[in-house]
Amino acid sequence: MRQLSIVGAWAAAALLLAACGQPSSSSKPAGVTATQPAASAAPAAPMYGNVNATRLLAADAEGNSGQWMSYGRTYDEQRFSPLDQINTGNVAQLGLAWFADFDTNRGQESTPLEVDGTIYVTTAWSKVNAYNAVTGKPLWSYDPKVPGQWGVNACCDVVNRGAAVWDGKVYVGALDGRLIALDAATGKPVWSVQTTPPGEPYTITGAPRVVKGMVLIGNGGAEFSVRGFISAYDAETGKLDWRFYIVPGDPAKGPDGQPSDKPLRDIALKTWNSHGGLWPKKSGGGGTPWDAITYDPKLDLLYVGGGNGGPWPAEYRSPGGGDNLFLSSIIALKPETGEYVWHYQETQADSWDYTATQQITVADLNIDGQVRHVVMQAPKNGYFYVLDAATGQLLSEPKPIVPLNWSTGIDMKTGRPIMNPAAHYDRTGKGFLLIPTPGGAHSWHPMSYDPQTGLVYIPTMYGNYPMVATHQDDNPMGQKLLISMRKGFAMYDQPGAKRINEGYLQAWDPVRQKEVWRVSFGNGRGGGTLSTAGGLVFEGNSQDNAFAAYRADNGQQLWSLGAQTGIVAGPITYEVGGVQYVAVVAGSRLTGNFYAPNGSRLLVYKLGGTAQLPPQAPPPQQVLNPPPQFGTAAFIRRGEDQYNRFCGTCHGTDGQSRGLFPDLRYSPALTSEMLMDSIVLDGALTDKGMVSFKSALSKQDVNAIRAYMVERAHYAMTHGPGGMAAFRQLQQNAGRRRSGATPEASH
Ligand code: CA
Repeated sequence: MRQLSIVGAWAAAALLLAACGQPSSSSKPAGVTATQPAASAAPAAPMYGNVNATRLLAADAEGNSGQWMSYGRTYDEQRFSPLDQINTGNVAQLGLAWFADFDTNRGQESTPLEVDGTIYVTTAWSKVNAYNAVTGKPLWSYDPKVPGQWGVNACCDVVNRGAAVWDGKVYVGALDGRLIALDAATGKPVWSVQTTPPGEPYTITGAPRVVKGMVLIGNGGAEFSVRGFISAYDAETGKLDWRFYIVPGDPAKGPDGQPSDKPLRDIALKTWNSHGGLWPKKSGGGGTPWDAITYDPKLDLLYVGGGNGGPWPAEYRSPGGGDNLFLSSIIALKPETGEYVWHYQETQADSWDYTATQQITVADLNIDGQVRHVVMQAPKNGYFYVLDAATGQLLSEPKPIVPLNWSTGIDMKTGRPIMNPAAHYDRTGKGFLLIPTPGGAHSWHPMSYDPQTGLVYIPTMYGNYPMVATHQDDNPMGQKLLISMRKGFAMYDQPGAKRINEGYLQAWDPVRQKEVWRVSFGNGRGGGTLSTAGGLVFEGNSQDNAFAAYRADNGQQLWSLGAQTGIVAGPITYEVGGVQYVAVVAGSRLTGNFYAPNGSRLLVYKLGGTAQLPPQAPPPQQVLNPPPQFGTAAFIRRGEDQYNRFCGTCHGTDGQSRGLFPDLRYSPALTSEMLMDSIVLDGALTDKGMVSFKSALSKQDVNAIRAYMVERAHYAMTHGPGGMAAFRQLQQNAGRRRSGATPEASH
């Protein structure tokens, strides 16, 4: 009910905004347009946010080549810039031109946009800032005021990956499911719509794209078993044009009245056998398209990446078997109508969080002496796919970018992966040490394609992760993965089990389907990549918390500068007044201390830049001060179970939050049952995102959790509190925050 009332208020606010801010066509005097001379009929280009189809289609032409006007720079999402003022010969002289601190201390994943000297960048909590691209002077900032408690619905922090700019407006998807249009000159809202069903745990973290005057927006929430869809809204008015659902709804509820009805009925529904499963209990199943949306003007097609299944083990969603379309699929649609054209499913009956939501890049490749128009993707499942953009047919045998173990190859006759039967972990408790992890061999971190080298530069993750299904029923709150963390992590201790956890920058030849070079980040991670005509690849990392440039042809590092924090986002480059700049958003969540600043800021570089970051403030000291241990061993164990089920998602496995959220071993609430109850049961910290767990936990449960945390605090006093190095050794990689993994690798 709490969520319903909040959403009701948003909906009312959205209506008000739409009514106030939307230019009303009926207010124009009749006949004015018709009597105006033809020459003045064309509206003047807006001073700010002047992006349209003509400019985007000619992104490499004079006047446009120095811009970064769309999430992937161009419609084809290659993240390649023709700028070459900064090049292999002079990149060593790159320095900081300016920086702008953000007012949030959370994960920063945004790709900035730069249009005619203005930067538009989103930050955590779906905020948007605009800056002068040369001086860094703030132009405006906008806060959609996402309620703090909505954070509990985000699988992977309250991040946002970017905005869209179109015809004088800036569009942002808010974490709580709103799509908001802002005036590019002022940051004032023009319209706002709730794109997701009120009260349901959907989130938006991905960037909108604008095609043919329509704003396209997806959503996340597969970990909560929501039903994924992509929507198209009129860019001027916010009116819904069409919606495409990725998975079927409850058949008893009838069609959705959307273009997805026919393909869901004709193709997808028969691939779900939910007898005894989700239906008719509820709709759902996942498939949330939370990142990749690519427009291909050559074929006039949209390519959308479908998400994973929810809950994770396929046998819970679809006990009778089946491929579960359109999970883990690239789906091609007609942009004007949302009409289905083709699909290619990469992982049938997904049980591994193997989304196909990763970046979809369009290019013309010379394959077997023929120029082919292709879509390329390096999805989580570890294969690299090159598909015919017109048909979705495989153009080459997909090869693994990491030594994956869930499949032994792709059957080129059927286009399906040849499964390793052992990968089908199930509720019998038989687990599988999966490679790559549910975080993927590659996730949302942008890759880039350099047409000069013909290589794709991938932020690659090589790791393994234990998958064990659980008998546990649906959690009344939080994520519903239905995998067992406790049984899973025990798998690492089995004889012969090797923990794998490595991140690297990988240069991949998409034609020969093989690696050309790589740069390892050890147990750290590389961020998104940018390619330029200067023969460079730019990438930040969380190994040495730096931003660096590499030779595109051989991976030699030519430049690097410390950023005081991990960088996971995708960089951009732009040119204003004859000067080339490179910009990237910094800010890792894994600071080790929730109360420490995490260096969230926009960093902008140019040749000879001399700006200096201020010295890093030391993190506030935390002191372990638990009360004496209480409760029996069984009581503490009960607390551990409940903690891992309801609290570990945010506060970390074993109580080590590593900075994402408060480390409860240090919490003053450990000293008082009453204080603990007021927070966990009565929701005293709701506005900070810590909602009440009254519907899920009893008073006894909460006290058992307190006993467990007290036990962990005493353990830390004698063995040390852990920290990042210990954490990496202990947990190694993985996909889910729930599982104490490296969350920036995840979604
Ligand atoms: Ca997922």
